Amino acid sequence: MNILIINSGSSSIKYQLLEMPSTKVICVGSIERIGSTDAISNYKTDNNKVEKIYEIANHKAGLERITSLLLDAEIGVLNSTEEIDAIGHRVVHGGSDYTETTLIDEEVKSKIKMLSTLAPLHNPANLQGIVMAEEIFATAKQVVVFDTAFHGTVPVKAKKYAIPNELYEKDGIQAYGFHGTSHKYVSEKANEYLLKENTKLISIHLGNGCSITAIKDGKSIDHSMGFAPSNGLIMGTRSGDIDHSIIYYLVNTLGYSLDDVNELLNKKSGMLGLTGSNDLRDIEEEASNGNADCILALEMNAYRIKKYIGAYTATMNGLDAIIFTAGIGENSSLMRQLVCKDMDYFNFQLDDSKNELRSKNIREVNTTDSKVKILVIPTNEELEIAKQVYELLN
Ligand code: AMP
Repeated sequence: MNILIINSGSSSIKYQLLEMPSTKVICVGSIERIGSTDAISNYKTDNNKVEKIYEIANHKAGLERITSLLLDAEIGVLNSTEEIDAIGHRVVHGGSDYTETTLIDEEVKSKIKMLSTLAPLHNPANLQGIVMAEEIFATAKQVVVFDTAFHGTVPVKAKKYAIPNELYEKDGIQAYGFHGTSHKYVSEKANEYLLKENTKLISIHLGNGCSITAIKDGKSIDHSMGFAPSNGLIMGTRSGDIDHSIIYYLVNTLGYSLDDVNELLNKKSGMLGLTGSNDLRDIEEEASNGNADCILALEMNAYRIKKYIGAYTATMNGLDAIIFTAGIGENSSLMRQLVCKDMDYFNFQLDDSKNELRSKNIREVNTTDSKVKILVIPTNEELEIAKQVYELLN
């Protein structure tokens, strides 16, 4: 089966075509800066790698550009759009109704639209990708995998906020949890590696968005992001945990509008707000040159992660392994070192030389006598989506 995975963001479309069940990647690509005259299209197959700049006005134009690359006589991989059997769409918010991979119909689409109020940065773009794909790949089955789905197992005591009950019951205000596809993928890889199923794991996804999940016996039981993908860890541009009183102070005393506050906390905070950059590579370089803001931001980031590790070890009453994944988790030996420093009370010790080794494979970076394993596991959300789509349709 040829399964095309589409991940539509507000100004980008990322895609990957996989052959299942062999899991062979046929091509992978992205279009960034949709809506501009200098949108960047990246496209890669086994034999070709093409980067070009186009004018791409909207998602429809973006998906049309992708289709013409897939069908291109020279560098394409398909003769007809009908060779795509299914499309797997990543949708960020599935609310409490969708905790499983789901075939898309009108009802699912209207639910995704309704949930846009809960994920205004993500769900509208995700829906646009679905509508366009239905038009262009009319013979393909369209399937949705929700980022929230893996967290459907979080117990009420962990997902409910201590606000009046009716806001939970009638209005659906609760912690939903995100990055589920990634946490599911890496935790299953960890269980395979550990040759155990009944494990207590902490999965730490550190990319532009950052989140941490407690996973017991293969199930998510608590997660750092909440009602929206904004709570918890310090991220590239998002503050993570913050006292809500600050919002009233910003509005009532400092004259911010609610839109300003939203912009501030989602787009101007986190590492960007602390250092002027949201790219950890630049921050690490500046820190090594003695930049005090960057040194402190790295320490704050690691400190927040440590607090969650402590909390989740307590809630699971134990810990078998922690997992580092995504851009920072997989590549930043410094961040892993800062997080794992002085954690001997929790029975884990990093092996400094293993920590410096680079690999695209799953690897163990703890010392041999560390009781808790420290694993670095490259995430692969596209493969996880393709697996789920394949399972649903077969
Ligand atoms: P992602 O959202 O998973 O693509 O991750 C993006 C983040 O990973 C950015 O903050 C990058 O700076 C960071 N990143 C990527 N490669 C490295 C690296 N070699 N060292 C440190 N951070 C990195």
